[in-house]
Amino acid sequence: MTPDVRRRVLEVYAAADQAVSAAAPRCEGSGRCCRFTEYGHTLFISQFEAELLLETAPAYDAPVTRDGCPFQVDNLCTARNERPLGCRIYFCDPAYQETGNGITEEAIASLKRIADDHDTGWRYAPLHVFLNEAERPAIPAADTINPAGSPGPRLSLPVV
Ligand code: SF4
Repeated sequence: MTPDVRRRVLEVYAAADQAVSAAAPRCEGSGRCCRFTEYGHTLFISQFEAELLLETAPAYDAPVTRDGCPFQVDNLCTARNERPLGCRIYFCDPAYQETGNGITEEAIASLKRIADDHDTGWRYAPLHVFLNEAERPAIPAADTINPAGSPGPRLSLPVV
């Protein structure tokens, strides 16, 4: 990601955050919205969002299924700073749905303009697709190294 693309994507995040803050949707803090199958929805993200998220996201176990986000720990988000737009904008508050949809449409249109301006192409896919593509080679932890020298169990690594 070039510095200009990064700057513009972060501006889209900031605008979305501001719009959500102004709308002040209600959050009950159940964390269900990050457990996708249980909740009955799918978090789609763009390539730009995936790249930003993966720069700072903590380690996760792969392969990741579509069932939930690996960054939810004890009902809290551990990737909050660079979380994708859907995480920023979606709230289950029934009174906010129309407003949230409008904020999403505007934000996605802005990201597509960035893609057009920089001729990057456009990819939009469920979160787990990008997380599994970013899988890195394993380095076994000290307590899993096989003394005979064969590879230990696969571990997830921080993606940098
Ligand atoms: S990145 Fe954070 S807010 Fe988004 S789905 Fe994962 S745990 Fe939830």
